[in-house]
Amino acid sequence: MSSPAAQHDTPLIDRLPAVRGRLSANAPLAKVTWFGVGGPAEVLFKPADADDLAHFLANTPGDVPVTVLGVGSNLLVRDGGVPGVVIRLGRAFAGIEVINADILCGAGALDGNVARAAMEAAVTGVEFLSGVPGTIGGALRMNAGAYGVEMSDVVVKAVALDAHGGRHELVSDDLGFEYRKSIIPEDWIFIHAHLRGHAGHADDIQARMDDIKRAREDSQPLRTATGGSTFKNPQGLKAWKLIDQAGCRGLRVGAAQVSEKHCNFLINHGGATAADIEALGEEVRRRVKETSGIELVWEIRRIGVPAGGETR
Ligand SMILES: Cc1cc2nc3c(=O)[nH]c(=O)nc-3n(C[C@H](O)[C@H](O)[C@H](O)COP(=O)(O)OP(=O)(O)OC[C@H]3O[C@@H](n4cnc5c(N)ncnc54)[C@H](O)[C@@H]3O)c2cc1C
Repeated sequence: MSSPAAQHDTPLIDRLPAVRGRLSANAPLAKVTWFGVGGPAEVLFKPADADDLAHFLANTPGDVPVTVLGVGSNLLVRDGGVPGVVIRLGRAFAGIEVINADILCGAGALDGNVARAAMEAAVTGVEFLSGVPGTIGGALRMNAGAYGVEMSDVVVKAVALDAHGGRHELVSDDLGFEYRKSIIPEDWIFIHAHLRGHAGHADDIQARMDDIKRAREDSQPLRTATGGSTFKNPQGLKAWKLIDQAGCRGLRVGAAQVSEKHCNFLINHGGATAADIEALGEEVRRRVKETSGIELVWEIRRIGVPAGGETR
């Protein structure tokens, strides 16, 4: 693994500021992402709280790349690992409070827990989150959405730290939400969100969440190692249809396969490398381009370097 930071003789972990949270060198990432593949983080940092994170960012040398992970449900970590520091937000960032129709949550809170807390408080509008298996931070970054509702519909405000630890309060318009993305700089880290639903009935909300669960069970390979939708839907089209028409349903590279159930999902049957999964995705893109002329765009974020790789 090589990064500008790796040009130093001193191990990266010894160049980082003292923190109250936990720093670990050469920390495996495969078991903390859904695909279950990929190399280690050069250093993994789990901040104790938002002040600890801000202090760390303010005092980390500028040549050290910093990457934040949620629970890795839309992420492919390459086999050579991630140079620099990878940050994961733990329990201190997972709080959820519902006041009237306002839902205040940490960026490390699981989307499903936020949906459940809203349901218990009889607040409707965020049921879609019950089926998105990520964190609120990942949902803000990706403008996560399902069944016609997305984060842009429910976000009132978000708080992010910039690369120097500066705190920014952002209203929904500042986030520049588009289909599966927000325009906030890649090196900013969301730490908090304020969502708003409206008054509803817990039974109706639960019924809606049950419908969502059933629809997903029927259409998605949920109990497998996957990264969710691999490619964004091109304007007015469905990526899965283009992939199907290109004859890619069930296509394999090693132990990586295009799902038979939902062909915009790639699956690791066990033993696939990140390189297999990425090569499979690129082969799907090539075949779709050949048959339809359309270039699919990755929705899954790919991070880190290939095995023995030099560049990020
Ligand atoms: C079975 C399955 C079903 C899925 N269904 C859907 C769906 O219906 N709709 C949908 O939109 N997505 C879906 N996804 C994809 C995924 O769950 C979402 O994109 C989710 O929002 C990613 O959240 P995460 O916390 O896992 O982020 P990660 O996958 O860990 O990271 C994704 C991106 O977000 C960034 N990020 C994470 N946390 C933060 C933070 N605190 N601050 C700044 N950036 C951050 C990361 O750097 C990375 O660029 C599905 C995935 C799976 C596996």
